Amino acid sequence: MGKINKEIIQDIKDRIDVINLVERYVPLQRVGSRFRGPCPFHQETKPSFYVDPNLGLYHCFGCHASGDIIDFYCKINGLDFYQGLIDLGREVGIDIDINTSYGGKTSKRRIILELNSVALNFFQESLKTNKRAKEYLKERHINEDLIRDFQIGYGPDSWDGLKNFLKRKGYSLSDAIHSGLIVENEKKHVYDRFRSRIIFPILNISGHCIGFGGRTITDMEPKYLNTSENQVFKKGENLYGLYQARREIGLKKSVILTEGYIDVIRLHQFGYKNSCGVLGTALTPAHVKKVSNLCSKVILIFDGDEAGIKATLKSAQLFLSHGTRVEVVQLPQGEDIDSFLLKQGPDSLDKLIKNSEEGLVFCTKMIRVNHSPREIILWCKEFISSIEDPALSGFYIPIISKELGISEMELRSSLNFNRKKVPMNRQSINPSKKICLGDREVLKFAICFPEHIEGLKGLEVDKYFKNNFARLLWKKLIAYSPEEILYQLDEMEREFYIESLFYKEKSGDSLKLWEQIKTFLKNKQRERLLEQTRQALREAEIAKDSNKIKFYVSQLNSLVKNKN
Ligand SMILES: [Zn+2]
Repeated sequence: MGKINKEIIQDIKDRIDVINLVERYVPLQRVGSRFRGPCPFHQETKPSFYVDPNLGLYHCFGCHASGDIIDFYCKINGLDFYQGLIDLGREVGIDIDINTSYGGKTSKRRIILELNSVALNFFQESLKTNKRAKEYLKERHINEDLIRDFQIGYGPDSWDGLKNFLKRKGYSLSDAIHSGLIVENEKKHVYDRFRSRIIFPILNISGHCIGFGGRTITDMEPKYLNTSENQVFKKGENLYGLYQARREIGLKKSVILTEGYIDVIRLHQFGYKNSCGVLGTALTPAHVKKVSNLCSKVILIFDGDEAGIKATLKSAQLFLSHGTRVEVVQLPQGEDIDSFLLKQGPDSLDKLIKNSEEGLVFCTKMIRVNHSPREIILWCKEFISSIEDPALSGFYIPIISKELGISEMELRSSLNFNRKKVPMNRQSINPSKKICLGDREVLKFAICFPEHIEGLKGLEVDKYFKNNFARLLWKKLIAYSPEEILYQLDEMEREFYIESLFYKEKSGDSLKLWEQIKTFLKNKQRERLLEQTRQALREAEIAKDSNKIKFYVSQLNSLVKNKN
């Protein structure tokens, strides 16, 4: 549990309005004492995602995702437990000290975040006093609101402005170099990375500055420069504007994805507040995962040139193979979002979005136009084998065959011989299927009615569990209180635990159940005794011990009589 104590976690949980928080991401409807909605963790048509505000837990009967509210928040935002706790704490007015919660092990990470936050202030202050930079932003139609919302700054025309500033603040040079804000070249010269550049801070989903992008306002090469990769900043995992867009993405259940800082800012300016951008790199599976966790639809808007189309094709394929809905908006040749919106306004973009092309149709169209038949078949194979869930290929193959004019049967047969065997998604294994029925019923009873745990202990229930999973879970059930137990369970156990609680209403009267369980366990006890006696009788027969044989036979008789 690290250094955060149980009281703080409970305190945060107590202050969160569970339904309110979940509804930021999932539309919920009241069903009795619970709420139901479409699961944000898997694609589904019928809602099977339930939230119980009294238990403070969620559970999906489709993919078995389950947990408490902190768990939900971390999962949907792609955060680790501590980060999620810090964010939620902040929302309800409980400050968790990042120093204690991150511990010594990750202190490098903490220092980078701290340096970034100090540098962010430095850049913002520098912008206020630099006429030329302000002039540049004005020319690019970036107003004060946008400067504030995106915390835009300026890296002054100086080799050591930030370097000296950080030194004055007491930071070591090696940490500053490690953070990527200060560069050390081969000749051991040390200087500011961002000079004469407009600074676009890159925030993670919890609002911490993890790095910067800088655009030159002189003719210095390169035009754009990023913080170099380090423990905190990874281009392939982060998206520009995701922090500003996160709420709207949840509400609209869709994201607009583009590239370039100013394109993202421009989209926000014109009301497309669910927009974010990749950071001067190709889209990666990590991006796809991050975005798909937040919403089910991606609208790709890329430049209308050849490079833009290529990037769109790749990105669309990645999202489709993950099962995310994709729509592609193509800008007119030679335009980017920035220029298009400034010239034609949002009505024109709305029209383009309305007429956007479905992702797979777009891909097949591009492939059909530009490739030879051999390349087309190769593309089909590669695309189909990249699909994570085999059930999805059944969904895509008819579309591909229709769009490319290949018969579905031939397409399938050409794919079959080297179809990758995809390991079954762990989430689709229902943990309760792994335990035998008797074990399952007893455990469920113990979970739903912990007041009977002592009674079960008295019946020596642990002797009758057939399955190791059941034995381990039982040990935890007797060791921890219902308040503590959630954090002591592994993922499978937690799914089973929460699912049991969600079935509680259906399980009926606890006293009646208790009688049934007692009868069940007593029968088990007798079966065990019968087996032991039979074994003893066999041994007596082998030893030809007539006294013992007589004894065990009579014992067996009385056991069998009792049963009826
Ligand atoms: Zn689900």
